Amino acid sequence: MKRIAILGSTGSIGVQALDVIRANPENFELEVITAHSNADLLIEQALEFKPNVVVIAREDLYEQVQQALQHEDMKVYAGSKALCSVVEMGTVDMVLTAMVGYAGLLPTIRAIEAGKQIALANKETLVVAGQLITDLAREKGVNIYPVDSEHSAIFQCLAGEFHNPIEKIILTASGGPFRGRTAADLAGVTKAQALKHPNWDMGAKITIDSASLMNKGLEVIEAKWLFGLRNEQIEVVVHPQSIIHSLVQFEDGSIKAQLGLPDMKLPIQYALGYPQRLKSDFPRFSFLDYPQLTFEQPDLKTFRNLQLAFEAMERGGNMPCTLNAANEVAVNAFLRDEVGFLQMSDIIESCMAKVAYIANPSYEDYVTTDEEARKLAAELINK
Ligand code: NAD
Ligand code: MG
Repeated sequence: MKRIAILGSTGSIGVQALDVIRANPENFELEVITAHSNADLLIEQALEFKPNVVVIAREDLYEQVQQALQHEDMKVYAGSKALCSVVEMGTVDMVLTAMVGYAGLLPTIRAIEAGKQIALANKETLVVAGQLITDLAREKGVNIYPVDSEHSAIFQCLAGEFHNPIEKIILTASGGPFRGRTAADLAGVTKAQALKHPNWDMGAKITIDSASLMNKGLEVIEAKWLFGLRNEQIEVVVHPQSIIHSLVQFEDGSIKAQLGLPDMKLPIQYALGYPQRLKSDFPRFSFLDYPQLTFEQPDLKTFRNLQLAFEAMERGGNMPCTLNAANEVAVNAFLRDEVGFLQMSDIIESCMAKVAYIANPSYEDYVTTDEEARKLAAELINK
C-alpha cells in the first residue's frame, strides 16, 4: 500500500491519477490532495476519496472548502506555504507533482528533503533547477519516477539495463497542431487553434507548449537531468501518430522503444506502481490500426522555441530558468490574446539575452532569475 499526495489533483494529470487510484484501491491510499483555484472539483474529490488532508492554494477559497468538508474527518489548509508542509507529513510515501510551472519547484524540494519518493509530472522543476534537484535527490536517497510519457518510455526501456550505459536517447514529438506550417502561417494562428492538440488532452499551458514545440524543448532538458545525459546524447524526432513514446540506443547499437496508445494513465500508473506493472483495462494498441508509423526531422527554424531550449541547455547555469520563466509569461500572454504565436519566441530570446547569467546558481539565484525574467518578459509584452 503506497500512501500518495497529489499536488494539483484538479488538473489533467491529477484527475487521471485519481482514475488510477480509484481503479487500484488495494495498491494506493490517497493521503493529500491540493489545488490552486478549482474549489468545487477539489471538494468533490475530497468527498469521494476521503484523503486526510486537503489544501487549496488560493486563500480566499479556504472558507468554501472548509465549510463543505467540515463534517468530514479531514484537515483543510490554504496557501502556498501549506503546500510545502503537507508534502513533509509522515503519512505520505510518494508525492505526485502534477501542478503546472515554476510553482512546483519549492514543494518538490521540500518533499525530497523529507525523503519522499517523487512521481514527477511537473517538468518545469527539472528545467529550472535540474542540478539542484538531482543532487538533493541523490543526497536523500530519493527516486524520481517520470510521469511524462516520453520519459516514462525511456525509464521502461531502461528497466533491467541500469548497468548498461546509454549511447543516446530519441525523444518522439507529435509535432503538435501546426506541424508542417511555415512561419508566415504561424504568425496568424489563434489561441483556439493552438489549444487543439491532435493526440493528447492536456492543461492549457502544456498544450500551447506542444503547439510551439517548447514542450519538447523542456522535455529535452528534463531528460538530461532524469537520466544523467550529456547534451549531445539527446535527439528529437517528430512522430505524428504518438505511438512510439520514445527510444533508447545502447552502446551495442541496439534500440529499445516503448509503444502504446496515447493515454497518460499508463505512465502515471507506471510511476505510482513501480516496480509493479498493474493490470489495467486501458484500450490496447493494434499495429493493424496503424499501418504507417512515420518520422520526420523537427523544423527548428520555424519552431524557434525548441532551438532556444537546446541553446539554454548548452549555456546551462540559470539559462533554462530564464527560458522557463519567460515562456510561462509569454504563454499566459498568448492565452490572454496579448501577444501573437511567434512573439512568444521573441520574448524568450530577449530574456535569454538580457537576464544576468549565473554559471552555478543557488536556490536563491533561481528565485532571483525567475523574478527578473518574469519582470522583463512582462515589460516586453506591455511595449
Ligand atoms: P493543468 O493546468 O490541467 O493542472 C494544473 C494543476 O496544478 C491544477 O490542479 C491546479 O490547481 C494546480 N496549480 C496550478 N498552479 C498552481 C499554483 N500556483 N499553486 C498550486 N497549485 C497550482 O496542468 P496539467 O496538464 O495537468 O499539467 C501538470 C504538469 O504535468 C505540468 O508541469 C505539465 O507539463 C505536466 N505534464 C502534463 C501532461 C498532460 O497530459 N496533461 C503530460 C506530461 C506532463
Ligand atoms: Mg511529454
